[in-house]
Amino acid sequence: MPGSDPVGGDPPSSRLIVDCARLEAGAVDCIEVSRRCLLADSGVPGARVLDGLVEVEATLRKAAAAYLAVGRVRGTWAAECRRCLEEVRGLLEAPFEEVFEWSPLEGETWPIRDQRIDLAPASHQAAVLSLPLAPLCSPGCAGPDPERFPTGPAAELPPKADAADV
Ligand SMILES: [Zn+2]
Repeated sequence: MPGSDPVGGDPPSSRLIVDCARLEAGAVDCIEVSRRCLLADSGVPGARVLDGLVEVEATLRKAAAAYLAVGRVRGTWAAECRRCLEEVRGLLEAPFEEVFEWSPLEGETWPIRDQRIDLAPASHQAAVLSLPLAPLCSPGCAGPDPERFPTGPAAELPPKADAADV
C-alpha cells in the first residue's frame, strides 16, 4: 500500500506503524526505525512529555514467531517543581525492549496485525514511566513561601547516602 506508511519528515503521527512484511519473509534481518511520534496522552499528574512529542529509534528483529523491538524514546519532559510549582524541564530518554506477537499477552506483549506493528503504545509507556516523580527546580529550592511553609532542605530529613531521585 504505497503512501500508507509514514516516513521521517512527515508530520508526527500518534501512531507509529511499521510494516514488518520484509522481516516476516526473511528478506531482511532487521528493520531500523527512526521516527517522531505524538503521544496520545503525554503525562501523569505534575509531569508530562513536552508537546507530547518523542523521537523513537528502534531495531526490529524476528524472534521465532514474534518480533522484538529494542530501542529508545527521546524527548523533553516538563514538570512542576514539587516545592515551588515552577516548571522544570529536562531531557527524557527511555530505553525499551518490547515483544510483539500474533497472540499478545495482555500487559506483557503487543499485537502484530497484518504483519504490521504499532510502536506508539510501547513508546508511550516507556516515556511516561520515565517521567520524574518528584522533580525540583534546584536542589536548594525553598518553596513559594519559606517563612510560612518551610519546605526547603532544612525542613526535610537528612538526605540518605543514596539519593532516591536520580
Ligand atoms: Zn522550585
